Amino acid sequence: MSLSDALRNELERILGVDGVITDPVQLLAYDCDAYTIEKSLPTVVVLPQTTEQVVAVVRLAHQTGLPITPRGAGTGLSGGALAVQGGIVIAFSRMNRILWVDTQNRRLRAQAGAVNYQLSKAVREAGLHFAPDPSSQGACTIGGNVAENSGGPHTLKYGVTVNHITGLQVVLPDGEVVELGGSEDEPFGYDLVGLITGSEGTLALVTEVTARLTPNPQATRTLLAVFETLEDASQTVSAIIASGIVPAALELMDALTLQAVEAAFGYGFPLDAEAVLLIELDGLEAELDGEQADVLCICQRNRAREVRQARTPQERAQLWAARKKAIGALGRLAPSCVTQDGVIPRSKLPQVLREAAQIAAKYRLRLANVFHAGDGNLHPVLLFDDSDPEQVARVVEAGDEILTLCLQAGGSLTGEHGIGVEKCAMMHQMFTAHDLETMRRIKAVFNPQDKLNPEKMFPDTRYCYESKRALRRGAAPLL
Ligand SMILES: Cc1cc2nc3c(=O)[nH]c(=O)nc-3n(C[C@H](O)[C@H](O)[C@H](O)COP(=O)(O)OP(=O)(O)OC[C@H]3O[C@@H](n4cnc5c(N)ncnc54)[C@H](O)[C@@H]3O)c2cc1C
Repeated sequence: MSLSDALRNELERILGVDGVITDPVQLLAYDCDAYTIEKSLPTVVVLPQTTEQVVAVVRLAHQTGLPITPRGAGTGLSGGALAVQGGIVIAFSRMNRILWVDTQNRRLRAQAGAVNYQLSKAVREAGLHFAPDPSSQGACTIGGNVAENSGGPHTLKYGVTVNHITGLQVVLPDGEVVELGGSEDEPFGYDLVGLITGSEGTLALVTEVTARLTPNPQATRTLLAVFETLEDASQTVSAIIASGIVPAALELMDALTLQAVEAAFGYGFPLDAEAVLLIELDGLEAELDGEQADVLCICQRNRAREVRQARTPQERAQLWAARKKAIGALGRLAPSCVTQDGVIPRSKLPQVLREAAQIAAKYRLRLANVFHAGDGNLHPVLLFDDSDPEQVARVVEAGDEILTLCLQAGGSLTGEHGIGVEKCAMMHQMFTAHDLETMRRIKAVFNPQDKLNPEKMFPDTRYCYESKRALRRGAAPLL
């Protein structure tokens, strides 16, 4: 797909010359997200700063029939920001302003490209924060969080993005601007904020977000429990939840992840353990001693070798930095990785982790585990070299088998990373034809010509089948 001079001139008139990227080398930065095994070059990338500019670009695309792909920071892990048909990528990175803060009513309004971490930073002095904290929070945008309904370590207790958004400004694929919800706690009428949240950019472009702010807890306890076996660590997860305790976070890192994290940061993680659990309790100071004692007891009953406690805010920050940078640290072990995102009932963690390891071994791949264990949200990370098509083919097969295993265990295809292009071919395994048709009809109301983020999520698109077939044959994806 090529861009006519007239169209390029018009885009430059709307956005200024530095708001339009057409140089093929610069476009390479936008040819994929953090799911790097499928790539596609957009025809043009635009960098709006205002909703009015977004509207003008969308109207132009509508008139000319060009597809649009929304993009935040490109940290997505399922290929959602991939410009499958080329066309216009609307990158929200310059729409990053916090528009207002109302600490009294615990609300904040931001443009869609504001970085997740900036929201909490803006209200830190007021003792508040934005609760959804994806491990990528230093880079990912609130618009991307809304599109993926993102979670994070602390969403075990506090809920995912949809629980913290009360209002959205969106631009529909014909350029109409619509305000959904507001600042109130309980919306009336259909929950359209809930419908857009998690729709992976296939229904509307999110331009502004009103977020609920959460008071910081009075006290926290952060523990690191060390286990000789992955099985004991995963059984501890079920036991803690079954006891009625809801930790603020309950994260697992396995031996391979610890190796990478330790090599990267040198925090003193045990390298001879098979797994550690990072357990955070929060709430009223007076309650935490009892809860901590119960958690210690459960860890010991499940053969924890040692339970360390972060003694200072710095130690706590170091533990969390290590956890949140773990996937990045895995880059030390292989040129590429694919992070899967299945959900399973917590009680099946030991069985599913064992079988996932067997699948990885069958495909001769190294597998690291670093995940939101309390939510039963697995992130098996397959390590490989994406310049070798034969390894890519094995990764695709192994990833599909691991996700099928999650479905068979009574789980789902995604906890927080979305379907994107990565998992669209598997949607038939989770949803009936009737379910998919219902979703298609909803999409047709908002996005009737399928020009907004086309060929995502649904299993019967040309791209979905042909790219997966090509990857399985060990060839480059067909674009
Ligand atoms: C190291 C690492 C750790 C991660 N940890 C977590 C985690 O703990 N929890 C979690 O949930 N995810 C995690 N992720 C995945 C990812 O960071 C999230 O999905 C995040 O919300 C994506 O935000 P983004 O701004 O990068 O969006 P992008 O990747 O740019 O886009 C993601 C999707 O949102 C759409 N989109 C983006 N902006 C808009 C908009 N304004 N309007 C409409 N649609 C839009 C895109 O089209 C695409 O479909 C992690 C990723 C990495 C690389």
